[in-house]
Amino acid sequence: MRRAHVRIQIKMFIDVHTMQIVLSVTSLLMATTLWIIFPGQSRDGLNKWALALVSQSFSWLLLATTFIESEAMCVVVSSMAFSVNVALKAISLLEFQQRPVPRTLPLILPLCIAALFFLFPGNVPVLMLLNGAAYGVAYFGIAWLMWQPPYTTSIRVRWLMIGAFMAAAIGFILRAVVGVFNLDVLPYTAAENGLQTISYLFGFILVMMSSTGVILMHKERADEQTRRLATTDPLTGVYNRRTFIELADMALARAQRTRTPLSLLMLDLDHFKRVNDQHGHLVGDQVLKSFVRVVETCLRREDLLVRFGGEEFCVLLPDTTHEGAMALAERVRALIADTPLQISDTEVRVTVSFGVDTMREGEPGNVDLLLHRADQALYRAKRSGRNRVAGYAPA
Ligand code: GH3
Ligand code: MG
Ligand code: MG
Repeated sequence: MRRAHVRIQIKMFIDVHTMQIVLSVTSLLMATTLWIIFPGQSRDGLNKWALALVSQSFSWLLLATTFIESEAMCVVVSSMAFSVNVALKAISLLEFQQRPVPRTLPLILPLCIAALFFLFPGNVPVLMLLNGAAYGVAYFGIAWLMWQPPYTTSIRVRWLMIGAFMAAAIGFILRAVVGVFNLDVLPYTAAENGLQTISYLFGFILVMMSSTGVILMHKERADEQTRRLATTDPLTGVYNRRTFIELADMALARAQRTRTPLSLLMLDLDHFKRVNDQHGHLVGDQVLKSFVRVVETCLRREDLLVRFGGEEFCVLLPDTTHEGAMALAERVRALIADTPLQISDTEVRVTVSFGVDTMREGEPGNVDLLLHRADQALYRAKRSGRNRVAGYAPA
């Protein structure tokens, strides 16, 4: 039987210098885009990523234009710039994830690459193999960084970044191995062969993928900040009144459908004006923050704490009977009364009054009614001496 030999020969040469120029320009454009989209944001490692792209751009520009006359020198400088780019990307992602950045990190890869050129001058196969290994390890390290918790991005963007860096790691190692075992395709700056073409195309895809990933990461974070600003109180970080009303509406509808009780605590700090008068408004602000942290220790995940305004707060307690809500209010009251709040070097003692109301199983009514009745109960607690809990009792 004759075996059919099908030989597919792919000849895809794109001029190497053209590709280097395209990569260089693309990287520079990406860096500029980052600076334009997120102006003035030096936080979260964004600047480091843009600098990495500039460094990468320089690295390719050098190869493309060979404006350093000695080709060997050109390769060394270009490689150093490329290694700085990889180090900066690692730092950028660490900063974004708010992990500590080891001081030596920016130096490790560039020093390794410099050492290789020093130890094996002109030995292209060895240099290529060890360079490939060094970049492979560095890129695997970055992919691992994105893989590890804490997760600071959505799962899709994380996979995009992990995919890009894993591909870069595997690509560098494969390129080194293919180059070393097929010395005829071994690339040097301007070698024209399939390995070069594939490497640069791959590089182009990875620059686009990873930089798009970075834009998405920062966009996600900006969106999250906007959402947080719109839904929470900037001082204490708990829900604001508007969000609370929306969430309470839903919780009440759910409670009425499932015929479960829903309770509401209304809290008002006692004589808070005096706290401000005695310690100043700034300490007063810190007291409100500390107060919220203490209250939160008594709540379940499903309970909703809100700053209703000024020194007045509400807690919505799904699936909680009136007796349960009264007991919780009493526990919080006692805890606050017994816990001096430490604000810098000042110790501030505060007390709170509570109004408690409950929508019982299947009871009709809306959030306004619940709030109104809890407010009436709170008024009673204030009138009867403060630092106490009062349940709503129909007149
Ligand atoms: P009581 O509720 O026991 O009747 O007395 P009070 O002094 O707490 O009540 P009042 O409602 O008269 O005053 C509330 C005070 O809370 C007045 C206001 O300056 C202070 N306050 C409201 N919001 C803030 C805030 O964000 N920061 C600070 N520091 N003080 C605030
Ligand atoms: Mg008050
Ligand atoms: Mg008040």
